[in-house]
Formats: sequence, C-alpha cells, structure tokens
Amino acid sequence: MKYQELVDVYSALEATTKRLEKTDIIADYLKKLDVDTIGKVGLLLRGSVFPAWSSQEIGIGAKLVERAVAEAIGTSKANVEDAVRDEGDIGLACVKLYAKKSQTTFFSQPLTIDFVFNSLQKLSKISGSRSTNRKISILLELLSQASASEAKYLTRTLTEELRIGVGDGVVRDGIAQAFNIDKSVVERAQMLTNDFSVVAQTALLEGENGLKKLNLTAGTPVKPMLAQLSPPLAEIIPEMGVAICETKYDGIRLQVHRAQGEIKIFTRRLENITHALPEIVELFDECLPHEDYIVEGELIATRNGEPLPFQNILHRVRRKYNVEEAMANVPLKLFLFDVLYYKVPMIDEALSKRREILDEIVDDSDDAMNLSTMLTVTEDNIDEAEKLFESSIAGHHEGIMIKDASQPYIPGIRGKKMLKYKAEPETLDMIVIGGTYGIGKRGDFVGSYLVALRDENDEFKSVAYAATGLDDATLEYLTGKMKELEIATKGRKIIVEPKIVLEIAFSEIVESPEYETGYSLRFPVVKNIRKDKGPKDIDTVERLISMYDAQ
Ligand code: ATP
Repeated sequence: MKYQELVDVYSALEATTKRLEKTDIIADYLKKLDVDTIGKVGLLLRGSVFPAWSSQEIGIGAKLVERAVAEAIGTSKANVEDAVRDEGDIGLACVKLYAKKSQTTFFSQPLTIDFVFNSLQKLSKISGSRSTNRKISILLELLSQASASEAKYLTRTLTEELRIGVGDGVVRDGIAQAFNIDKSVVERAQMLTNDFSVVAQTALLEGENGLKKLNLTAGTPVKPMLAQLSPPLAEIIPEMGVAICETKYDGIRLQVHRAQGEIKIFTRRLENITHALPEIVELFDECLPHEDYIVEGELIATRNGEPLPFQNILHRVRRKYNVEEAMANVPLKLFLFDVLYYKVPMIDEALSKRREILDEIVDDSDDAMNLSTMLTVTEDNIDEAEKLFESSIAGHHEGIMIKDASQPYIPGIRGKKMLKYKAEPETLDMIVIGGTYGIGKRGDFVGSYLVALRDENDEFKSVAYAATGLDDATLEYLTGKMKELEIATKGRKIIVEPKIVLEIAFSEIVESPEYETGYSLRFPVVKNIRKDKGPKDIDTVERLISMYDAQ
C-alpha cells in the first residue's frame, strides 16, 4: 500500500475542521485496508508508530530532520532553516522546498506504508556511537524518495506534530463507522489496550464481539483514572451516597504490574521506570502474592519519616547512575490505593470491593509498604472527612481524595467519581510552544513563555505568556532547553517544539481574543517545571472552560 494514499487522507483531514467529515474520511479509508496495513495506519493516523501505552518515541529532533531535508533535496541547511522560520512549520517548509528541489532521485520507488512504518520504528532503536549518521541515512532514504506532500507529513510525523486535527476520538469514531460497531465498544477497547493497532485489527477481523473480548493485561500499562476538583464536602458526599476519602499524598503515581513473575513499574505517563526503583521491586516481591496483578499507589520520598516535597521523589526516579547511593539517602514510602487486576481484571468491580481485595493481598508490615489512609464517609460523618483533611495537611500531605465507593475504575478518564480536595489553589499544566527573549541585560534569557493547552484533537492552543515565578537558575535552565527545542527565531520571539510542561498558577481566567483558546489568565505564575509530564499529559481547553464557567 502506497504511503501517498495515506498522505492524501492526511491532506483531506487537514482541510476540514468538521468532525463528521473527518470521521467519514477515516472510515472510508480504513475499509480499504488489509489487516497488516490497518494495524499500522491505526497508529500513523495519530502520528506515531508505537501504541499509546509504549514509552518508545521516534525521538528525532527538529534540527536533525532539517539537516536531512537539506541533504535530501540538495540545498543548504540555512535554506531549510529560513523556510521553517518563514512558514513556522517544518511540513509547510518542505512543500515549498520540494517544489524547487534540485536533486532528482533515479530509480526511485514509491514509498510504501510498510517501509515508512518500519523505518520510523528503526529510528527509535538507534543509539550509541555514530547514531547520528545512522539516523541520517535512514532519514535520507525516506526523504529523498518522498514527494512534496509525503515530505510534509513525514517530517511532521518525525517531529511528532502531525497537525491534521485528529485526536483519539475521531480515530475511534472512524473505526466504529468503518466496521459498523458501537462507538462505546471501540472506546472501551481503546481504553483497555491503549493500542489503536490492536483495536483496528480486531475490529476488522472479529468486529464488535472481538472488541468486547479485549481487556486489561498485566504487564501492559493503562492510562490512570484522574480526578476533578471537588465541590464542598457537604455538597458532594450526599450526592455520592457512600464515599471513600483518602489522604492525598504528594509524590508520583506508580502503576505496578506483576506478569509471569516479572515486576514492572510505570509512571502515570506509562513510562517504565522499573530500573530506577530496585528496592520497590523487592518490596513488591515480598509484600504481595506471587500472582499476576496491577496495583496503583503514590510513592513519596521521606526524611526522618516525614514526607519530602514532590520534587525530591522526581529526582530519585530520574536518576540513571548511583541508584544505590540514592536508595540509602532518600528512603521511599509507598501508599497503595487501588487494584486493577488480580488474577483477572478487576476494574469493573466497585471501588469498595477493589479496596477490600487490596487490603487482603497487601502485607503492610514493612515500613515502606502502606495502604493509603482511608475512611468510609456518608452524610452522617462528613465531619470525619474534614478531620481527615486537616490531619492530612498537618502531616504535610496535599489534601484528600474523595471517591465514589460504588464506582468501577475507568482508565484515562477525569470524571466526577474521583475528586481531589486540596489546600492549595488549583493550577493548570501547560505546554510551552514559544517565548520572548528579554531586553538589555536579560537579552540572553527567554524571559516570557508562551503556554498552551490541548484541545480535543490534541492540538495546542495558546493561553498566556507566563513570565513570573522563575529564579535566575531556572531561567537559565529553561532558556537552554528552549534553544535545544528551537524551531525558529524571529527578532526576540522564539518558537519551540512542544516538550516543556509548566505548572501555572493564576488569579483568574478571562476571555481574550488574543489567544487561540479565546481565554487568558490574569497574573500567571510558573509554579513548577513538570518534568514528570509530557505533551499528552497537560490540561485541556475543555478543563480551562469548565474552570472559567465555575468561577
Ligand atoms: P495533581 O497535580 O493535583 O496531583 P494530577 O493532574 O497530577 O494533579 P489528578 O488526577 O488531578 O492528577 O490528581 C490525582 C493524583 O493524586 C493521582 O494521579 C495521584 O498521583 C495522586 N494521589 C495521591 N494520593 C492519592 C490517593 N490516595 N488516591 C488517588 N490518587 C492519589
């Protein structure tokens, strides 16, 4: 199957903003594909060659792609950089450059989906010495055979920004429509497998019944269930009926799997961090049964038994060397709060039942292994939930979680069945898409950061410039990162690849035509660099609007 056909689909998708039209385009195309190709296209439509659960990335920087484009078409790197600066996007720059391409490829074969897919996967595996040269040679094979439109979407796929306005929802609807399957069945299959390749192939081969049989598997991470901000306790607890209130620990969330004897630890971004936490692997081996399971909990760093702020645990987990030394210096404590799988999938069980099972299977006699402090609350003992909140804050934790005891675990959703009640005002996690250099003495630093949120198609929409809350060392660090990620610079303005996540506090959300979301923030302050989060984990435009409405 020719890559050009997929590229024509990309173009058609980019040309319309209407969701129903996008769904038609995807559905019509998927119906034409064989099982092998549909598996690849399922991922390529979302601009990737790896399922969402995988932490593998294509991992090619914009600069390397620009260099390869220059070599492929026989022009200078400066020419490519100029075109990218003018167009603000590598894909559009390619369209312009390929029109003037001086290099012709003899005996060139049309690119196939197979070849493109396999080459992109190969790129992610290259590391070590001479890796740049090996990457360039694969890129050249692709880019020198590409047409202008193929180069447009190839380079965008390589830099992980496809810009066709297609999120998970549209791909899901496209699969449902192509094979006449209920959307909710496709959605559930996607949530449980996190793999559009498997979902599309199963839909094609086995239809709705096949998709219904897909389920969680121990060993493959799932997107965690997330929390919304809680209304006052007196309002929400009667609404839930029976709630489980727990201390909200301020660490990192771990999803721990045991599958066929092997223990694996994932972050909430589904990154495998098993290697960084040998003592936690051992702890699980000792404190839980030797069965297949998936459990979730929060991991915190401690000193003299007291919790340390969140950044400490992050440093510990990011460490690649001297893990042993860190183990001795930063003792860890784990607080388990959910079980998603124990011998069989558990997510459809009510939380109260899952918690009972968790209590049964965990031996918490080791100081490091704990179950989260919890309390069953109804409208008769709301005061006890308030006391739990106060004691949690006094114990240097973040607040409490309020969870509906009757509810199943729904992966990947931020719904009303799990809520958080914190002492600190709410913040939003945003992606940096650009910035402005300072003036005078500050001319070497990017002093102001253009931050954006994610819309339903996973496109980034600007919200504000954040310039306060950064000390000199952080400014220097961020400026260095911005330079690494630079796509183009014009005067004092810089555009960057969307990779840096900042946690932004603010006093108020206001309407503003100046920004792409239509909203902006008053007094935005950078609270943290969220190194534990990536572009897919930032907050959404939808969330911003619901916070605006709630103001
Ligand atoms: P925050 O910055 O507030 O942690 P977040 O976006 O990281 O927000 P949320 O879904 O908003 O995640 O808040 C829930 C998070 O709180 C969970 O992902 C988990 O890491 C953490 N947490 C701490 N204690 C608990 C608990 N007892 N039960 C569930 N989650 C908990």
